[in-house]
Amino acid sequence: MLFFDKVTKKYNDDITALEDVLFSIERGEFSFLVGPSGAGKTTLLRLLIREELPSSGSIFFDDIEVPKLPRKLLPTYRQRLGVVFQDIKLLPSKTLEENIAFALEILGKDDKEIKETTDYLLELVKLQDRRKLFPEQLSGGEQQRGAIARALANSPDLLVADEPTGNLDPDSGLAVLNILKDINKAGTTVLVISHDRDIVNQMKTRVIRMIGGKIVSDTKGDYDSVGEPQTPPKRNVVKTEQKEEKDSKEKKEKKKPKKKEQDVHESLKGLNKKILEKLLTAEIKDMDLVLNLTESDLENLKLTKGERKSLEKFVKQYLNKLEK
Ligand code: ADP
Repeated sequence: MLFFDKVTKKYNDDITALEDVLFSIERGEFSFLVGPSGAGKTTLLRLLIREELPSSGSIFFDDIEVPKLPRKLLPTYRQRLGVVFQDIKLLPSKTLEENIAFALEILGKDDKEIKETTDYLLELVKLQDRRKLFPEQLSGGEQQRGAIARALANSPDLLVADEPTGNLDPDSGLAVLNILKDINKAGTTVLVISHDRDIVNQMKTRVIRMIGGKIVSDTKGDYDSVGEPQTPPKRNVVKTEQKEEKDSKEKKEKKKPKKKEQDVHESLKGLNKKILEKLLTAEIKDMDLVLNLTESDLENLKLTKGERKSLEKFVKQYLNKLEK
């Protein structure tokens, strides 16, 4: 399902954050990624969600070669991943159930599906009776479980949680781990980045250990178990290449000259013309794509400070309207 093929990531030529990282994850697995601070775990995550590109090597998610993915397909790709970031909290002005429902609204689900999925996810993370509470009224562990529920809104194939038990007392940490176990049992592949020895030792599952940008051990067992990193089986790259060839052939055949302005989705109408031009050049034609832009995507768009502010204001107004 996921394959890191000798990935190296250098920053500013002299910092090597990842070096020749080679591993694969099969569908349905539950794995931990462990290692000291500075080992490269966050960098690996940023490459996976394509917030960064590798300096060499490549990343495959099923048939998708992540670094080569056209920008316009990024949001669709990212919807296949559920990521619970360490420092990203639930929206403070919304109740727990509104937080989950909002994630589904952004995905364009209808009212019936929003209600059914929200109920299901609240039950999954065992927070049905906390649904009307605001994040500040929830304990740390409950907030973390709420964030997991929100990350599951788009039914991801792979759930990645960055330090989900950090700062939690042992019992709350265990409750979060049990939820992640249930999610995995229900079919979602789970990768947990963790420093938490006790939590890792509870699971006796696969532990991938990184130090200094390299995978130094990859084995089933405890936090401190040591085993040679495995060499993943070679991928059938030919298939992907043939598919890419076929796709690009189909694309060429389908390609018709289009008037750019006509492609603009209703949700972007009224946006400043210059900003719109920059978005359209990057094939960003609707608000769904704008909402999925990361910090580095925004930098690549080369918006001026004023344009960026104006875009932020436009997005805020759009979300406010949606909320009403
Ligand atoms: P971890 O998540 O395991 O703590 P990181 O992936 O954050 O490790 O960092 C790995 C290394 O890469 C560190 O030495 C860090 O200083 C460096 N690094 C991470 N991001 C950047 C960046 N944007 N620019 C320069 N160096 C970076």
